[in-house]
Amino acid sequence: MFEKILIANRGEIALRVQRACREMGIKTVVVHSTADTEAKYVKLADESVCIGPPPSRESYLNMAAIISAAEVTDAEAIHPGYGFLSENADFAERVEKSGFVFIGPRPETIRIMGDKVSAKDAMKRAGVPVVPGSDGALPDDPKEIVRIARTIGYPVIIKAAGGGGGRGMRTVFTEAALLNAVSMTRSEAGSAFNNPTVYMEKFLENPRHIEIQILADEHRQAVYLGERDCSMQRRHQKIIEEAPAPGIPRKLIDRIGARCADACRKLGYRGAGTFEFLYENGEFYFIEMNTRVQVEHPVTELITGIDIVQEQIHIAAGEKLRFRQRDVVLRGHAIECRINAEDPFKFTPSPGRITGWHPPGGPGTRVDSHVYTNYLVPPNYDSMIGKVITYGDTREQALARMRIALSEMAVEGILTNLPLHRELLVDARFIAGGTSIHYLEQRLADRPAN
Ligand code: ADP
Repeated sequence: MFEKILIANRGEIALRVQRACREMGIKTVVVHSTADTEAKYVKLADESVCIGPPPSRESYLNMAAIISAAEVTDAEAIHPGYGFLSENADFAERVEKSGFVFIGPRPETIRIMGDKVSAKDAMKRAGVPVVPGSDGALPDDPKEIVRIARTIGYPVIIKAAGGGGGRGMRTVFTEAALLNAVSMTRSEAGSAFNNPTVYMEKFLENPRHIEIQILADEHRQAVYLGERDCSMQRRHQKIIEEAPAPGIPRKLIDRIGARCADACRKLGYRGAGTFEFLYENGEFYFIEMNTRVQVEHPVTELITGIDIVQEQIHIAAGEKLRFRQRDVVLRGHAIECRINAEDPFKFTPSPGRITGWHPPGGPGTRVDSHVYTNYLVPPNYDSMIGKVITYGDTREQALARMRIALSEMAVEGILTNLPLHRELLVDARFIAGGTSIHYLEQRLADRPAN
């Protein structure tokens, strides 16, 4: 096992990884920008290294600075968290070439999955069902594009091969709008992701977002840890996640889960990973794979009792998976609310000083957050300041505990989306379970402006 791990991230996930390491008796090095110097998790680490000024480009995305921090501190492995460099194949490669272990899949795997066209193609070949669409990238010939869309049938969605974070997508309802949408998505993708390649999919009108968590080791063993329902989204960004997914028969989950685990074995996948699917009328359609730990991993941890971050570390150390599929038993229900520093009505970011932080507690309540009273939320990064996760024997109990948690919780000094979560937790459709990915947007459109 490693003696020292460098955490190449910030915020709640840096603290989450640090906690996993401490429990395993592994020393931690945290790298940070000057905006995060005062953060408590930085001080809790065994060592910390300042890697640059606040802009991510000059700090959390600065590969050379991170690798030299690992060199000067004698860290053996680098945990990339999520976001930043976590799905950057060049970074993984540089980490390994510099003699460190990258806690994640092999660089080649990250490269394939990072391009949605090659990821879809790899999945198709590995027997995972995908959303019907163009056979690979869209050609330049307009006539050909029109023909492909007719074959798929409207509405279609144009997606950037290099897209991520809910960006680089455009829905097209009519042939008249098609070519313009393709060229706009192309040019946006070129500037945002440095890759103008786009592809086309059938736009599913009422799907749910269901994803399968997997763990796979270097020895071609793989298991799935059940599913998560992440259908509560705004602008393709998840805000509430839960596990298990309400109302989906276990045998359907087991069938798709087994296919995902099988695909991992075929692809020689290593580490934790998530297969994201759209689910409609009893069918799963693969959309993308995330080759890292996800924000919503705690809901799976609560219903399986498996610490996903610790397993990532065991796998990176070359160990065999410590359990088999039959050992993975799902128990109870878990829900996560992402707490964002943002206006709950206009959704504009609300960074600044937190003058009062009152997290909830009690049975079945977990709070993953790095903030505290007097913490300054920097304006430079993602607006998520923490996650509240509740667990119960049943979904009803998990929901009830979440309502209590949200009512106890208070964040003073900045705006947060707590009011929105409180509204959603008493929403009849959400309580019934199984809403589609479009539900939140529709509901927000009907919401009286405040
Ligand atoms: P990203 O990498 O940006 O998260 P994804 O491919 O995972 O992009 O898609 C994000 C979200 O966009 C999905 O959860 C879903 O809400 C929506 N979406 C993507 N593809 C489709 C599709 N074919 N039909 C309908 N909605 C889609």
